[in-house]
Amino acid sequence: MSSLSTSKTAPLQAMVIPVTPLRQNCSLLYCSETMQGAVVDPGGDIPAILDAIAKKQISIEKILITHGHFDHCGGAAALSRILDCPIIGPNKADQFWIDQIPENARQYGFEGEVFSPDQWLEDKDEITIGHQCLIVRHCPGHTPGHVVFYNADSHLAVVGDVLFRNSIGRSDFTGGDHNALIKSIIEKLWPMGRDTAFIPGHGRPSTFGTERDHNPFIADTGLVP
Ligand SMILES: [Zn+2]
Repeated sequence: MSSLSTSKTAPLQAMVIPVTPLRQNCSLLYCSETMQGAVVDPGGDIPAILDAIAKKQISIEKILITHGHFDHCGGAAALSRILDCPIIGPNKADQFWIDQIPENARQYGFEGEVFSPDQWLEDKDEITIGHQCLIVRHCPGHTPGHVVFYNADSHLAVVGDVLFRNSIGRSDFTGGDHNALIKSIIEKLWPMGRDTAFIPGHGRPSTFGTERDHNPFIADTGLVP
């Protein structure tokens, strides 16, 4: 478990808990004024997530999902029952991934459960966390229904498997689209600003500016279409 070093005084705080054998970054986002929060992408390892929530004394009000892959949302149904809170996201185009969660999780030796989101998300939807607001951006390419969450006040984004430190999301799965992925990154992520820090679905955080300068798959100086 780790906090983002860039955001100690930010109004929206973030904490990352790697879960499942794939070390997927489940995030706790919470309003530092009200201590109301959301869990993003609870792929599994529910006890570790509950432990982090209890230690920080966060009041979790919603579960947010970036996309339908089992390592991101295989634990959403269980956590929703335990915390009695709604599941919000991803975009409806990921329904077919959600339907395959149990069989895909089993291949990696853990349990994942199908769920029905209480709300599907669309581009430019807004979600509140305490006094803070998350803007939703639909970013297809890794999966067709992938969404990312952006908080302007804290210069923070949670981007799932769209962009990583020094890499980008895979687009070779069913429904993946490399050109759409590149377009999502350039048109939806870069406008959030070079100083914006992002939590990727796997690995360490970075900033959009760092990736624009150094990411071999998408840097401004690279061979991007
Ligand atoms: Zn994924």
